[in-house]
Amino acid sequence: MKIVQVECSLLEFPLPAPLRPSWAPGRVFTTTNCTLIRVHTDEGITGIGAGPEVGMLGIYTFADLVTPYVIGKDPFRVEQISPYLRVAARDGSYPWAFEMALWDIIGKATNQPVYRLWGGFNDRMKVYASLAEVPPVEEQIERIHLLRSQGMKAFKLRLRRPTIKEDIAVVEQVRKVFGDEIELMVDANQAHVMPSPKPIGAWSYEDALTVARAMEKLDVNWLEEPLPRYNTKQLARLCSEVDIPIAGGELNIGLHEYKTLVDMDCYDIIQADAAFSEGIFQLRKVASLAEMSFKKFIPHTWSNGIGLGANLQLAASVPNCPWFEFPVDPPAWTIESRDFMLAKPFRIDMDGTIGLPDLPGMGFFLDEEAITKYSKHNWQSERFSS
Ligand SMILES: [Mg+2]
Repeated sequence: MKIVQVECSLLEFPLPAPLRPSWAPGRVFTTTNCTLIRVHTDEGITGIGAGPEVGMLGIYTFADLVTPYVIGKDPFRVEQISPYLRVAARDGSYPWAFEMALWDIIGKATNQPVYRLWGGFNDRMKVYASLAEVPPVEEQIERIHLLRSQGMKAFKLRLRRPTIKEDIAVVEQVRKVFGDEIELMVDANQAHVMPSPKPIGAWSYEDALTVARAMEKLDVNWLEEPLPRYNTKQLARLCSEVDIPIAGGELNIGLHEYKTLVDMDCYDIIQADAAFSEGIFQLRKVASLAEMSFKKFIPHTWSNGIGLGANLQLAASVPNCPWFEFPVDPPAWTIESRDFMLAKPFRIDMDGTIGLPDLPGMGFFLDEEAITKYSKHNWQSERFSS
């Protein structure tokens, strides 16, 4: 089999309500965007992948930095193609969607879901609702009620209010209202500060320690990204000083960064993402390193429906992933906003779990009409013929 053509589309979808995510204080998003790629083969099989929005840099990355080196190659030779993606990650931006597409092709060619090709540990994953915003406590409670009525049983709250006292008070209140009827996680989003009009300074070590101790008392499953990404020594110190698991690593890049995080014991839970961190099969190596170090590997999935579906295959394949992140925070971030490019959006069941698609490859069905409607830019390579 040979790769004969690559297509790249930049998609933009208007959100049903403005989104004010905790990780960009003061910013309001009215659209969600992604970089979609399709990799065509001479046997008529097409692989699909998607990454975050990086504007025209997305087209440059796939058109100039990836396609010229992979056209004519066998899509099964993932390890031969990976080095090109690593160079493209340095000179361009987030080329990892290409590896998703390769595995989509391999799964379709072998008539197997990708997670089964990789060991298939789970056919169904326990999910947690990954919220985005930091609404007032009454509204936070309302949103949890709504999602509970749709089957959700675990919730990741965001901690990015002006003071840690306010953050702790909200989690205390939520725990008081719902008791042990829900499971909780918290995400401080201190590792990555997006440009915004109201930057909130990163927590000090003492802040992180205070919050971690408070979350322990509230029986929170983990504290995520309590400190800046490369503050490895203090992350390791915090991790050893508290009992609550510390999670992070969603936007680290490259196998070597994850080796450092594991070797230094910066986190109990490694959260690499197949759209942001490395190629999806390369991240299986990170999951294995975590497994060998008695750590959990629970991928970050906040990008779009395709990123979510690819990370679901990765998560289900490994033995050390007890949870799956399901981004949803209505009214802005709905399943329809997240999965607008998919004819079959990813949904959970009423028992708070998600079943793996019983389909070859990654299990995506594109909504071609939506893709045409929401495409801002399209590029395609010439078709290769040997
Ligand atoms: Mg996070």
